[in-house]
Amino acid sequence: MTTTVKPSIERVRFELVPRMAEVIEIIDLSPTMRRFVLQSDDLRTFDSRDADDHMKLVFPATGQREPSLPIQTPEGLKLPEGAVPSERRDFTPRAFDQTAGTLTVDFYRHGNGPAGNWAETATIGCKLGVLGPRGSRIIRGSVDVYLLIGDETALPAIARRLELVPAGQKVIAFIEIDGPADKVPLTTDADATLTWLHRNGAAPGTTRLLEDAVRSLPKPEGIVYTLAGGEATSLRPIRAFMKEAGYDPELTRFSGHWKHGVANHDHHEEI
Ligand SMILES: Cc1cc2nc3c(=O)[nH]c(=O)nc-3n(C[C@H](O)[C@H](O)[C@H](O)COP(=O)(O)OP(=O)(O)OC[C@H]3O[C@@H](n4cnc5c(N)ncnc54)[C@H](O)[C@@H]3O)c2cc1C
Repeated sequence: MTTTVKPSIERVRFELVPRMAEVIEIIDLSPTMRRFVLQSDDLRTFDSRDADDHMKLVFPATGQREPSLPIQTPEGLKLPEGAVPSERRDFTPRAFDQTAGTLTVDFYRHGNGPAGNWAETATIGCKLGVLGPRGSRIIRGSVDVYLLIGDETALPAIARRLELVPAGQKVIAFIEIDGPADKVPLTTDADATLTWLHRNGAAPGTTRLLEDAVRSLPKPEGIVYTLAGGEATSLRPIRAFMKEAGYDPELTRFSGHWKHGVANHDHHEEI
């Protein structure tokens, strides 16, 4: 039997606290996905309640040992006078442990930009800033099927969702990676059908792999909650198709995680 009552979203807000953290572990999950475990006392109050949460990581500028973090002022958070501004990029809290003061982040190694370059050169002891998350959108209620769609930048959220959903929850995931070597281990008690789609050397965000996979899926029965993340332009036709195919737009969340040729793409931009 399928669910008839739509799930609702509970929004939980967190105070925006700037936190400094230090790399304590680096693990290559695959040739293209590098995990960093960060630790600090600041992280003992870090919170995140949903797999789709995001935070800003703050990267030291060239020649800096530490990133510049904003401080609380009567006018809100501001960089201290004279501080060199640091680049910030969106990342998914893959895992965290308040007791240990740790936060795990998985980086796709695309090799460009402040985050991409940092992931290539960072070593144990390097400092990174963490801003956020500002809050969580928690899905309350039953969902018949979670449909998860994304490239490597969505893989941390997909992996976390697979760990978060109840045992037996039906999940269908389409994950775009370059090739079989780029597959990362995923743990779940869900009734999950995972399809890894291989670009085989094509540049990320240039294929129709995700679109074709979604088009070829017979629309699942009942309440389908879709979460999609990846290159902004390539998500557009998938979103359009899903609208046409009758997927409920209220239960469909698309996020342009990055955009070809654009540094620091704003994921709030309409797909
Ligand atoms: C909500 C959210 C959660 C995210 N979570 C993660 C995460 O957990 N792990 C993760 O790795 N990424 C994640 N991303 C994506 C990440 O924020 C972007 O890839 C970001 O652009 C990386 O910054 P950068 O400094 O490396 O590159 P930028 O300075 O932003 O861009 C430099 C150049 O690199 C290109 N580029 C950026 N990203 C990619 C890519 N993935 N593949 C190919 N070219 C790229 C840009 O088009 C640009 O030409 C997330 C994004 C959002 C919005």
